Amino acid sequence: RREAAFADDTAPGATSDGHPVDLLANIGTAADAERAAAADDARTVAGSGLFRTEVLFLDATTAPSVAQQTREYTAALAAFGDRKVVVRTLDAGADKPLAFATLPDEENPALGVRGYRIDRVHPQLLADQLEALAAAAAATGTRPWVMAPMVATPAEARALATAARAAGLEQVGVMVEVPAAALRAREILAEVDFVSIGTNDLAQYTMATDRLRGELADLLDPWQPAVLDLVAATARAGTEAGKPVGVCGESAGDPVMALVLVGLGVTSLSMSLGSVPAVRFTLRRHTRSRCVEIAEAALAASSAVDARAAAVTLLDAEA
Ligand code: PEP
Ligand code: MG
Repeated sequence: RREAAFADDTAPGATSDGHPVDLLANIGTAADAERAAAADDARTVAGSGLFRTEVLFLDATTAPSVAQQTREYTAALAAFGDRKVVVRTLDAGADKPLAFATLPDEENPALGVRGYRIDRVHPQLLADQLEALAAAAAATGTRPWVMAPMVATPAEARALATAARAAGLEQVGVMVEVPAAALRAREILAEVDFVSIGTNDLAQYTMATDRLRGELADLLDPWQPAVLDLVAATARAGTEAGKPVGVCGESAGDPVMALVLVGLGVTSLSMSLGSVPAVRFTLRRHTRSRCVEIAEAALAASSAVDARAAAVTLLDAEA
């Protein structure tokens, strides 16, 4: 019976007492967008909370033209129609090198010119991307949100917001994936309309642990108390500012972590399409106040293992 409920539940994401939480899909291509938008089963999503645009250009040897980008973004936006789509500006560098953007000889690429920082050496890339996104928005009659990865300071957030608004984009945000951004989330939120926490990189940078090193997975764990503290600080800043705070790292697709995130005040969860049914199912079986209790228990723990165990202990029996 429980499996039947799991498969059939296409209702919007919400806690059992009706507190809404947008459940969104992470995408990298127009084909991903079409797949996510077409899902009319338990994977039904309210849109995309992370469109990783660099995925489109991983094989490109030269920078894509505005026209080419406009075509790609138009296809992805068209798939979702009226639904929310959060488009991320190119996250080139480190684990996602792009031949036309990434510096060739960085000693520490994860700490180097990656993500939004590329604007320092290739300003035309961001300008072209914002122009193409605005053109795609006009072509589809949609209002995409735009955000930049790897932002560390309020000044960077302000510069991005100025450029994006000048291009005609209305909802501008940044990713919180550097501890500095989490610690200064209030000041960053004063500059932008929303933030989205990238827990993959936030864990990497908080724990000083290469996200590609499997043997360090225990340190990279998003349940690490220090990582949870930074997520909590960011969510609190969003609640105080009355602005949306999403999570689009892998941890958003862990049903138990999803309860913690909602308890902390996160307003949307973006994940692999396949993770949506379990997150929807678990969320719909817990009240908002239960999520707050679960989050408090996780935050009070002194290790990643204990944090998850503390959360699991409070799962409602019916879930
Ligand atoms: C993240 O860092 O959590 C994130 C969502 O971005 P990416 O995995 O693409 O670096
Ligand atoms: Mg990231």
